[in-house]
Amino acid sequence: MPKDPERLRATLLAYVEALRCTGRQSVRLRSGWRRGLSSLFLPIQGAVSRPLSVVQAPLPKENQPSLESIATPPSVPPEPTDRPERARRLEALRQTTAGCRRCPHLAAFRSQVVFGVGNPHARLLFTGEAPGAEEDRQGEPFVGPAGKLLTRMIQAMGLQREDVYIANILKCRPDLPPGTPGNRKPAPEEMDTCLPYLREQISIIRPEIIVALGATALEGLTGLRKGISALRGTFLDFQGTPLLPTFHPSYLLHKPDLRLKRQVWEDLLLVMERLNLPISERQRGFFLTKS
Ligand code: SF4
Repeated sequence: MPKDPERLRATLLAYVEALRCTGRQSVRLRSGWRRGLSSLFLPIQGAVSRPLSVVQAPLPKENQPSLESIATPPSVPPEPTDRPERARRLEALRQTTAGCRRCPHLAAFRSQVVFGVGNPHARLLFTGEAPGAEEDRQGEPFVGPAGKLLTRMIQAMGLQREDVYIANILKCRPDLPPGTPGNRKPAPEEMDTCLPYLREQISIIRPEIIVALGATALEGLTGLRKGISALRGTFLDFQGTPLLPTFHPSYLLHKPDLRLKRQVWEDLLLVMERLNLPISERQRGFFLTKS
């Protein structure tokens, strides 16, 4: 952590700017931190042109970015000027999908279309394959057990769910015979039919990185059937946007293997590096086996 107050101020300002560019509207600070930061910034009040609001609340330990990790300020992308426009276009697209009946069997089975959720200006977009039962009920992707794990993964990156965008290739839950429990993998032709909606979401949001969660999502986006083990950790391309495949959170839930968790975490570290997000030594060591 820089000891020189000027350097510390500059570092913190760069960090806050980087957070703001991910769409973050507020940061949480412990009361002790608030007092320290107040004294640090009192002489230069007004130096932050568009400050984030500060919420006094304890931040879970695993979510606290270390000050060491921000010693090198991340590069800050330019401020977007079309935030309301992106939100308006996404809402118009959402309304279009809400009445979509391109797949009559899915339209008849669904409770509702599960469009996607998150920041219209997200730098990072996660996509899975299709909504499950819980997503179909709530109308939001990744809200079941796998979704909760995805949220924890996002938080481990130092972000919040609201900072990113989360979607699926298929917007309707794949149908099942009456009384059949669980969920079904979407068929390639079903994903092909619905993919234009995700393409449009991506062209509106213009994320810097897309993470494909699971082999089915990867196949739906690229046609590749090599499996995640062969392709994870490698940036591919989707419509000119870097695409990183990794395991689906539900796979991690079914196979609670520390090495698997580490592999997924290493993929997310690659994403963080590409996005110039601060990474602490503690974050770098997540899921490493103790020798
Ligand atoms: S899956 Fe997609 S294309 Fe098919 S009915 Fe639902 S929204 Fe329309």
